[in-house]
Amino acid sequence: MKALIMQAPRADLSVSDAPDPACPPDGVVISVHACGVCRSDHHSWTGADPTPLPHIMGHEFAGIIEEVGPDCGLRSGQRITAPFILGCGHCTDCTSGQPTICADQYCPGFHGPGAFAQRLAIRAADFNAVPLPDTIPFDVAAAMGCRVTTAWRALSDRAQLQPGEWVAIHGLGGVGLSALLIAKALGAQVIGIDPNPTARTMAQSLGADHALGADALEQLKQITQGGAHVSVEAIGLTSAFAASLASLRKLGRHVQVGMPTGNHAKPPLPLLDLVYSNQLSLFGMRGLSAAGFAPLLHLIETGKLDLTPLITGHISLGDVQAVFEDMDRFAATGVQVVTDFTR
Ligand SMILES: [Zn+2]
Ligand SMILES: [Zn+2]
Repeated sequence: MKALIMQAPRADLSVSDAPDPACPPDGVVISVHACGVCRSDHHSWTGADPTPLPHIMGHEFAGIIEEVGPDCGLRSGQRITAPFILGCGHCTDCTSGQPTICADQYCPGFHGPGAFAQRLAIRAADFNAVPLPDTIPFDVAAAMGCRVTTAWRALSDRAQLQPGEWVAIHGLGGVGLSALLIAKALGAQVIGIDPNPTARTMAQSLGADHALGADALEQLKQITQGGAHVSVEAIGLTSAFAASLASLRKLGRHVQVGMPTGNHAKPPLPLLDLVYSNQLSLFGMRGLSAAGFAPLLHLIETGKLDLTPLITGHISLGDVQAVFEDMDRFAATGVQVVTDFTR
């Protein structure tokens, strides 16, 4: 099969032949029809989130089942997607509905070969696969995961966002814009914050009530009459973490969605001034279970959540490196989806 191969951090990526994946006994092999390009892939490419080498990235996939293992109940020809965290399917965390904390989890594109390739193996597929309704195209399904699925769980589950509340979203890349669309679908009021004016313009076109630069804390406090109820850190930067906590009102809820790597892994925490005195809640957040996709797919199918404006380009495997270079400069907007796996 053709795949996009990374030989070393920051080395030029090449579209080359790679061995077809073996089908796990309890899993499937899919032909990949779409795979989103994500800042988490960029973390792998830069070496900030190291992977085995050589490596195939890509974890936001959708496709058609080509091969089914003997212990799997799915069938060839089914259209599916899956979370980027594949649970083992049988530990107590998985069976209690929390596979994102499974100690034996496996993430395609990080722990092993991913979906910037023509084929991908998915283990424990009865547990992990999410059948796709015919009305949801492959590119939309790819644009969902991980950004939309993550944003969905962050707001609906972790932060328990209520209609009418103010949400501040720090970082308007793929996951930040996804959080914006979901917050609006849940009836909240949204302030997007990003130093990049192009990202702010896009946020406003997607329905943000306000889009502010990174130094507009006072304006945010005025608009929200004291601060946001919920704040989402959606980029993984120390500065955005600090801004997120500062943008909350008393009893506000911060959700950490961006992955803080490298120098951003241990930011200062204003424990007395903000967390203790203002009685803030801090939520960690990573991934969504396969079972958790149902209400999100329903929102999309019923037209309450339209993800198509998030997709800013359909590209080939060989174009992924240019997207990473845009991410270096924080110049990428929306979601680029690989749909051509031949070159
Ligand atoms: Zn498990
Ligand atoms: Zn992702």
